[in-house]
Amino acid sequence: MSELQSHTGVGIMRCYQCGKCTAGCVLAPDMNFPPSYLMRLLQTGTKENYEKILSSNSIWLCLNCENCLGRCPMEIDIPKLMDYLRTQSIKTQKIHPDARPIISFHQSFLDSIKYTGRLYEMGLIAAFKARTFRLTQDMNIAPAMYLKGKLHLLPEKIKDRRSMKRIFAQTIENTKKENQ
Ligand code: SF4
Ligand code: SF4
Repeated sequence: MSELQSHTGVGIMRCYQCGKCTAGCVLAPDMNFPPSYLMRLLQTGTKENYEKILSSNSIWLCLNCENCLGRCPMEIDIPKLMDYLRTQSIKTQKIHPDARPIISFHQSFLDSIKYTGRLYEMGLIAAFKARTFRLTQDMNIAPAMYLKGKLHLLPEKIKDRRSMKRIFAQTIENTKKENQ
C-alpha cells in the first residue's frame, strides 16, 4: 500500500468517506466498487482488498474524467490512483474480463498515434476488431460515417513521426524502470 502512495503521492488516508466522488461519477453504477468504496478498500490496507480492487472492473471503467477530483473536498486524485491500479492489474495479471475490450481499444488507439502521429479511425477500428474478433459489430453505421467525412480511407500523418516513436520508446523505458 505504501508503494501505491509513494508512486502516486496520493494520500489515501485523507479520504473521510463523504461520498461526493461516487455521487458525481457517471460510471459508479456500473462499477464493482464505486470510487468512495474503492478508497475505503484501499484504506483497510489488506492484501485481500487490494487484490479485489486489481481484479475489479472499476479501475477499467474509470474514464479519468476527473469529476471525482473536482468534487473531492480533500482534493484526492482518484484518477491518478486508477492509472496506477490499472498498471498493477496488468502486471499481476488480475485483469477483469470486462476490461479486455477496453485494453484492446487503448492498444489500438496508441498504435494509431505511434505510427501516424494522429488518430486514424479506420486503422483504429480495424485493429480493435482484429483484437476482439468483433468483426461485424457496428458495420452498418460505417457507410453513414464515411459519407459524413468521419472516416478516412488513408491516414493523415505528421511530418516528424520519428519523434513520436521516440516518445513511445522513452515512455516504455521509463515504465520498465519504475516497475523494477
Ligand atoms: S475519474 Fe473515474 S472515478 Fe472519477 S468520476 Fe471520472 S470515471 Fe468516476
Ligand atoms: S470525495 Fe474525496 S473525501 Fe469524499 S469519499 Fe470521495 S475521495 Fe473520499
